Amino acid sequence: MSTQTKKQESASGQSMDFSADVSRLLDIVAHALYTNHDVFLRELISNAADACDKLRYQAIQTPALTKDNPSFRIHIYKDTDTRTLSVIDNGIGMDREELIDNLGTIAKSGTAALMEQVKQAKDAGKDPLKLIGQFGVGFYAGYMVASKITVVSRKAGEKDIWAWVSDGRTGFDIRPASEEETARLDGGRGTAVILDIKDEAAEFLLDEKIKQTVELYSDHIDVKIFLNRPEETGEGEGQPINKASALWMRPKSEISKEQYDEFYRHITHGFDEPLLTSHWRAEGKIEFTALLYIPTLRPWDLYDPSRKGAVRLYVRRVFISDAVEGLTYPWLRFVRGIVDSEDLPLNISRESLQHNPIITKIRSSLARRVLGDLDKLSRNDPPAFTTFWGQFGAALKEGLYDAVEHRDDIFKVCRFYSTHDDGEKFTSLAQYVERMKDDQKEIYYISGENLDILKTSPQLEGFRARGLEVLYLTDTVDDFWLQQVPEFEGKPFRSVTKGDIDLGGDDQKSSKDGEQEQTQQTGESCAALLDALKSILAEDVADVRISKRLTSSAVCLVAPATGIDMHMERVLKIHQKYEGNTKPVLEINAGHALIQKLAELAGKNAPEKGESPDNETLNDAAHLLLDQARIIQGQPVSDPSAFARRMAAFMGKGL
Ligand code: ADP
Ligand code: MG
Repeated sequence: MSTQTKKQESASGQSMDFSADVSRLLDIVAHALYTNHDVFLRELISNAADACDKLRYQAIQTPALTKDNPSFRIHIYKDTDTRTLSVIDNGIGMDREELIDNLGTIAKSGTAALMEQVKQAKDAGKDPLKLIGQFGVGFYAGYMVASKITVVSRKAGEKDIWAWVSDGRTGFDIRPASEEETARLDGGRGTAVILDIKDEAAEFLLDEKIKQTVELYSDHIDVKIFLNRPEETGEGEGQPINKASALWMRPKSEISKEQYDEFYRHITHGFDEPLLTSHWRAEGKIEFTALLYIPTLRPWDLYDPSRKGAVRLYVRRVFISDAVEGLTYPWLRFVRGIVDSEDLPLNISRESLQHNPIITKIRSSLARRVLGDLDKLSRNDPPAFTTFWGQFGAALKEGLYDAVEHRDDIFKVCRFYSTHDDGEKFTSLAQYVERMKDDQKEIYYISGENLDILKTSPQLEGFRARGLEVLYLTDTVDDFWLQQVPEFEGKPFRSVTKGDIDLGGDDQKSSKDGEQEQTQQTGESCAALLDALKSILAEDVADVRISKRLTSSAVCLVAPATGIDMHMERVLKIHQKYEGNTKPVLEINAGHALIQKLAELAGKNAPEKGESPDNETLNDAAHLLLDQARIIQGQPVSDPSAFARRMAAFMGKGL
């Protein structure tokens, strides 16, 4: 309400501007939604049905609210004389404040995100309609077909009836409803949405078109929909134009894919198709029916910490709430759908639901089912599964530390890039384990934000050379679950950028002894260099040592064995104001020509040989080596101007 400005006030009413959000949204509706005009009816019916659900729920506590008429219904009627189409419900209704708040502003914080994405889609030459579907424009879709909309409403239990009127341009009027408008309500209760139909949308004044549209979009709505004037429909009279039975209670064999998809769009307010649909009935200790969907597209707010689960709860067909915390796990927050419980009491307070043991059991059961279905999907439809993983994998992985009891099932559906396909294809952990070398005991991984940088990491060289597979972990969440989950099927996870790694167990046993001998030799000749580097870089590194992982690069950085992994430390700094500063270990490749040259230089300079040490060259080289190691793994150099000066000095010598 905050951004509305009062334009004029009179005894009869008030004119107000739309909030900036609504104006922009209406602009999009007018310009971008040029196809699929008929969805406006779906949106209005969906609101009407929601209003009936809400009153049905309130009437459990306060039966007086519906004592005039306990049955809920929606009427659609057209008036060809005035060229209006009305959608009328006897649901919860709205008072003056609610009309202003619900229809004059957009409470949903996603609007700004929507606008931004629509702009991006347009700039990229894509159809923004798809995006709008993802967000849902709801009530405002009416302006695709109407030049003016009048909403007449009376909140259940109150006596005032208000009218909200707008041409969908700059603002709206709000005033007490006239007698004629009041007569539009069904039995004096609920809401009537009256649309002045534009000439180009005249087809929506035809019974056939209305029936078709209702059948297409709203057949599954649990409230009866009638096509005639309210006064023409008494109890038991007339035939509803929809089936008006809860879709989820019908046998699976009687539900078509289109109906499932349409129900998905009804509950998500979206236009997209679900990637996966699961419909089942649980019988036994707890009884419930569930119809769950996994969307094709990630919602814009998937990583918004305030995002709630989006599975609706019903108790024996009565809608209870669409935001029951605890009904789904946070890591399944992208799952949409409904759960209809046979066990919960109808008059349960929404607040007490979160810790209800029945809800907890249902949650676990939903998780098992979804994970099982995803596992099946990965086998039966790999491309669809890959889509799923790309959109939701990172969220799902939160479950690895959040829900230990489901960890094994989550691992089954986890996919990772790895050196096996050079980061092109996903692999499962089971596949990784199958490919492990006979005496390989650990599952190797490297973590970082950027796959391309990871692929070129020098720390991988030794693993590549020995044919040891390494997983690329690129989601922030990876560093978190790895802290909590030590192993998979008895095989510990091991960062290749941490500690002193023993690359034994390679398949080049024959050459191994010779190789080691060589390392030992070069190791000895490197002793002076190691000492020199340690003292020059004492401020920056915890240790300098001969590397067992490098084959072609000269240097790399690794985390000390007991410390925190380097990428994890960066992640913590970003996300949790972590102040720690673990010094890394610099590893040098004793077989590298550059290192050998430096070793010679350091040997000559060793103080016991009595010569004056050429400290400047060695000093610059040491810092350049460290900076190089930082750059390779995508870290900034600590002092760019010193780096440039040293680099120039070295190039000068080289030329
Ligand atoms: P959404 O349905 O996604 O919340 P809409 O734009 O369709 O968004 O509707 C905005 C709000 O207006 C609804 O959340 C509801 O509070 C209110 N509303 C719309 N239509 C009705 C109606 N027929 N009866 C009661 N409230 C309604
Ligand atoms: Mg709506």
